[in-house]
Amino acid sequence: MINLAACKAAAVAFLGAMHINVQPLPDVVVLDRAGWFTNSPTIFLLENADCGVLVHELVHYAQFLEGGPATDGEMWMRREVAASRVETIFKGQDK
Ligand SMILES: [Zn+2]
Repeated sequence: MINLAACKAAAVAFLGAMHINVQPLPDVVVLDRAGWFTNSPTIFLLENADCGVLVHELVHYAQFLEGGPATDGEMWMRREVAASRVETIFKGQDK
């Protein structure tokens, strides 16, 4: 079961150090079904998600704050690559 308070604190500190703006912080809700981010101010996570997933979704939230919704497949893919890179860096530091 994900420790949401601890993950949020770690994710916000990490993203802040990377100068990725996630303010105002969205709500984060744990569900027993698939997680996603829907351009709404809420991130949904699975119970078995790790903190890296929260970091990844928060990067998508930051991308949305900065540039609005992805308008085409190429933009979506660029955002996916960027979010995955940040998640990988976070996981490397989270050991
Ligand atoms: Zn993604």
